[in-house]
Amino acid sequence: MQGYILNYHKVADEDLIVTILGRDKIYTGYRFYGVRHSTINIGKKIDFELQSNYKSSIDRLKDVIDIGFSWFDDSSKVYCWQNFIKLFYAHFYDVESIDGFYSSLLDECVVKITRQNPKRAILETYIKLLQHEGRISFDDECLLCGLAMTDDISLVRGFKQTHESCSYEKSIDRDAVRELLENSSTIMLSDKQCDRLWQVLMQGL
Ligand SMILES: [Zn+2]
Repeated sequence: MQGYILNYHKVADEDLIVTILGRDKIYTGYRFYGVRHSTINIGKKIDFELQSNYKSSIDRLKDVIDIGFSWFDDSSKVYCWQNFIKLFYAHFYDVESIDGFYSSLLDECVVKITRQNPKRAILETYIKLLQHEGRISFDDECLLCGLAMTDDISLVRGFKQTHESCSYEKSIDRDAVRELLENSSTIMLSDKQCDRLWQVLMQGL
């Protein structure tokens, strides 16, 4: 099987409990400590096996092989990627079955990061996730006050649209927001605006 490491935590000395986003499932595995094991790190894509054990309710994670990315030595890209992946752990907390969309989306994002600014690649990926989950539309009403929005738009968590005066979040040109939400493209956003939207994204998927 293959999947992305969403999270891990240490138990009993150096053993780890690892959460992995696979094609159609969120897996949890127990990895016994071993010096020659490949390192577990958030955001890595791995090939792995899970072995069930009658003594334990949690499967043993074994035969872990790293599937490297071409940019895994670029720390700024890795930093953005890991922070994005961490949000999936919270998003799928207590969820077991998922549809194949998510692993394909992450595969696509890995490729996008190869040739694009990582924050832009991830913001565009996030819009696709919102579209898939039916959580996004370009509305004319403010989430907070319900009144029409005719000018520039401020995006808050979940990229919901608000007036700047309602959310105190700096507004963005209306057409640029529409281009982002409808075509999942950051082309009309400045780097500074992307940085601000990145901070909004970091509040959670
Ligand atoms: Zn408002």
